[in-house]
Amino acid sequence: LAKQGMRGGLLWFSPSMSSASRQRLSLLNDLELAIGGNQLTVHYQPQIELQTGQVIAVEALVRWPLPDGQLIPPDQFIPLAEQSGLIIELGEWLLDTVCKQIATWRDQGLGGLRVAINVSMVQFNHDGLIDLLAEALRRYLIPPELIEVEITESVAMRKPEDVIARIDQLKRLGVQVAIDDFGTGFSSLAYLQRLKADRLKIDRAFIRDMGTGETSIAEMVINLGHKLGIRVLAEGVEFPAQAAILRSLGCDEAQGYLYAKPAPAELLTLWLQETGQSIDNDQPPSSISP
Ligand code: C2E
Ligand code: MG
Ligand code: MG
Ligand code: MG
Repeated sequence: LAKQGMRGGLLWFSPSMSSASRQRLSLLNDLELAIGGNQLTVHYQPQIELQTGQVIAVEALVRWPLPDGQLIPPDQFIPLAEQSGLIIELGEWLLDTVCKQIATWRDQGLGGLRVAINVSMVQFNHDGLIDLLAEALRRYLIPPELIEVEITESVAMRKPEDVIARIDQLKRLGVQVAIDDFGTGFSSLAYLQRLKADRLKIDRAFIRDMGTGETSIAEMVINLGHKLGIRVLAEGVEFPAQAAILRSLGCDEAQGYLYAKPAPAELLTLWLQETGQSIDNDQPPSSISP
């Protein structure tokens, strides 16, 4: 337990633990204000079909801009939002923002672009998830197949029967489902078959390993996905050599700095218009700088 005392008239907590929890509380406070005040922002990163160079989708990635223009990355506040329950409010805000953006792209002649959203464990288990999605789709007249829900392999492995039931609900609604960071968990093959996911996203770690000639995990995931009728996307593709190997292994799609960094919607819209939603496989466009 933290020691408490008075110093200079202020309530004073002794070092480390108490100051960490005070910081946590203040961060949580700020985050709640940021969500309520519509201060969070979403960046979007394209996903490319490897054989054709077509941009088939974008992934929505949340950021928290500070007054000085600095962006706090999600890894620094999503876990906190998750622990405090604020993630539900954040998720509602994100879904509304994403659906509004899909409607804007439709009006700009960029209809048909799917958006993948990340859903954490608390959100995935939350009873309101399906209604929330259905309502947002209705509000902006968005075809359900333009939304993909990403859950990490570790979330997917939690309670098999519950996860299978929830994915069935999502599929009935018509949204797509991707298993994120795939290869870092230990899904059984039989279980994976029952999940009925649309897409496996090979974790960035295995794409990084390709630089040292280690391609066996990526190859295994690609073959596994295809045996089960699931498309496979490689995360974190940074170099043309990785893209070339992935193409030769028959990987369906890729996402990474090689093509574009996550960027604000307006910047991505320009990029999509310039590229005609299609990139040259041998000469990817220079990356969007964040
Ligand atoms: P993720 O879903 O696996 O997202 C991929 C992460 O890899 C993103 O980091 C992206 O910016 C980064 N990335 C993409 N291409 C490359 C590359 O070529 N090289 C490298 N080194 N990195 C690349 P980001 O945006 O910092 O997001 C981190 C994680 O935060 C995400 O991992 C996701 O799990 C979570 N997250 C992001 N947005 C949301 C959200 O709206 N809700 C929830 N629940 N989680 C979110
Ligand atoms: Mg993701
Ligand atoms: Mg991932
Ligand atoms: Mg991740």
